[in-house]
Formats: sequence, structure tokens, C-alpha cells
Amino acid sequence: MSTHFETQAIRTQLERSHFLEHSTPLYLTSSFVFEDAEDMRASFAEEKNRNLYSRFTNPNVSEFVTKMVSLEDAEDGYAFATGMAAIFSTFAALLESGDHILSCQSVFGSTHSLFTTYFPKWKIETTYFKADEVDQLELFLKKETKILYVETPTNPGLDVLDLDFLGAFAKKHNLVFIVDNCFATPYLQKPIQYGADLVIHSATKLIDGQGRVLGGVVVGKKELIRDIYLFSRNTGPAMSPFNAWVLSKSLETLAVRVEKHCENALKLASFLETKKEIKKVKYPFLVSHPQYDIAKKQMKQGGNIVVFELKGGLTSGSAFLNKIRMCSLSANLGDTRTIVTHPASTTHSKLSEEDRLAVGITDGLIRVSVGLEDINDIINDINQALEN
Ligand SMILES: *Cc1c(COP(=O)(O)O)cnc(C)c1O
Repeated sequence: MSTHFETQAIRTQLERSHFLEHSTPLYLTSSFVFEDAEDMRASFAEEKNRNLYSRFTNPNVSEFVTKMVSLEDAEDGYAFATGMAAIFSTFAALLESGDHILSCQSVFGSTHSLFTTYFPKWKIETTYFKADEVDQLELFLKKETKILYVETPTNPGLDVLDLDFLGAFAKKHNLVFIVDNCFATPYLQKPIQYGADLVIHSATKLIDGQGRVLGGVVVGKKELIRDIYLFSRNTGPAMSPFNAWVLSKSLETLAVRVEKHCENALKLASFLETKKEIKKVKYPFLVSHPQYDIAKKQMKQGGNIVVFELKGGLTSGSAFLNKIRMCSLSANLGDTRTIVTHPASTTHSKLSEEDRLAVGITDGLIRVSVGLEDINDIINDINQALEN
């Protein structure tokens, strides 16, 4: 098999059935049949590598997982109904009561809720460090610390964390290093090359890229995935065969889509830097980004998310959103359609104002998930909303 990204994403495919189909068919079946009693016994004893029941494995799900494993340079993986199911199941499978998580404070809103509202019920504590405190991480370690968890670039602050440094830190202190790679996709960044043990994705975002299905996936070290698999086959957060079929198709165009997303995003970010209505623009591949050098080192392009801060805070934030004509007002991201969001009143509204400010979510912060429309139309829409 070729090791080139685009070829892996397109040519990794299930064996053909006797129909010799070109495109992989959809295997909508809850279970699989056995030849006889001995086949049944041997299959359940895992003496045979085969499908038994679609809560455990399914051919379409396996094709999607196999692609993700190869694109992330991982050993094995498991797919879930949503990104949050992937995140929750990973922690639940690997942690015990009394364990401690060390996480960057800038994490997805629902991940923050897991850490602060739900895990404490099972005596699993989390300590947050800020994106600019990476060089003081030893101060946050406890003897119970088991997992180091980060997203990079972060949502929605777009801080970039040094994966090389974090990978070495996790290795030195014997931590399981987990990266939520949702904003970058394996096309832009492969955390396993920097020492990540597990990589998590919400496949709902750029992996599908067309706003159609929910999905999640975890890939990484074989023995860790084995624990996550056993936990998940008993607790039932599995991905549906239909969603896996869609997502496996989505991966065929991941490289061309993400390349174009990034080209549009850089053009929009550069344009926004010239506007007097805007206090600050943040995009990993703008020279003005505080971690521009790290972004250049570990990412192929800057991603499709651009954030900016309007002068005038909350009132100018909602006035801006109300003037948008073409772009969608939605909480999703990574779609072909450009989406404009106001994190303070939507995705991060559950955080206290203090917690929001700590991760850079000011009242005037606008997040743009730059889509694949003609860049002139995207710029014109945002520009008329700014000027009006
Ligand atoms: C959307 C998102 C998630 C959660 O994924 P769902 O598929 O919505 O459950 C997790 N992490 C990040 C960074 C996300 O953007």
C-alpha cells in the first residue's frame, strides 16, 4: 500500500464481495451468522478475527477505522457515534477512581463539562494549565496523574501547543498523552509523530466536512485501544454502519477539501487584519500569531478556523451576526458552508465569565469556520456586516 496520504484515503477499501462492486456497499446488519456451533464458539473466543455483532465491529465501521489508523500513523482504532462518545469512553476505559488528568484549559465545551461536572462524581480530578504555561507543567503534576490531554489548535482561542515538547514531557513522566486533533485533521498534523499515545477526532467536523453525520474515532497504541474497545463493546457507544459508510467516502476528498479550506481561511484572515473595526485577528499561519513558529513546525497549513475580536464587545458582536447574509449562523464547524459563531453566547455559554476570559473568549470574539464557497463571496459578506 502506498504511503501517500491521498492514496491511502482513497484506496484503503474492504475486500470486494462476489458482486465486484467498485464502491464499497453499505452493510446494514445488526449481526452476522455462524457456520455451525464450533464456528460460533471459536468466534466468541476471539480465535477468529471476524464480525459478530455491529455493536462490536461492522465492515463499514472497520473500513473507516482502518483509513483513520493509516492516515494518523496509528496502530489501531475504534469508532464512536459522536466525538463526545469517543472522548468519554476513552477516559472511562483508561481511568480509575483516584486518578488525575492534566489538561490544557482551552478544551471543547462538553469536554470541560466532563472534567468539571461528571468526572468528580467518580473521584477523577482534573487540573488545568493555560496554553502559555506549558513550560511550567511539572508544577501541576501529582503522583496520581495518568493522562495529559490537549487540543491544538484550541477551540476557539486558536492557541497552538508544542506537540514535540508535550510528547517528550508525557514520556518522561509516564503519562498517557492524548490529543484531540479535530481542528487540524491528520492532513495538517499527525500528533503520533510527536509522541501522542492516542488521537481523538470528532468526525462530525472536517472529517465529514459536509455537515451530514455525527461521528467520533480514537486511534493510537494497540494495547490502549484494546481497553477502549472492550469498554465500548460492553457500554455501546458504537458508530452506525451508515455513518461509517458516509465518513469513509468523506475521507476520499479530505486532502483537497482541507487544502482549499486553508487557502480560503488564510485569505480571509489576511483581509481581516486590514479592517479598522477589528481589534485582533488570530490564525495560526498569520505571522502575528503568538505561536506562529510552532504552528509552522507541526502543521502543514493553518486550518479552517479564523477568530477575531470586534471593537465594542457584546453589542457589536450581536449587531455583526444580525447583518450576516450568506454565511450560516450555526454552532457546527468544518462544513463546506462558512459558519459564523459567537462563542460567548453559544458553545461556551456554560462556562463562567472568569473561565471564558481565561481561555480568551471575550464578549466580542467571533469564530469563523471558513468554508469552500468562492473566497470573494465570503469576504464580501463578512465585510458588509462589519461596515454596516
Ligand atoms: C465538536 C467537537 C467535539 C465533540 O464532537 P461531537 O461529534 O459533536 O460529539 C470534540 N472536540 C472538539 C475540538 C470539537 O470541535
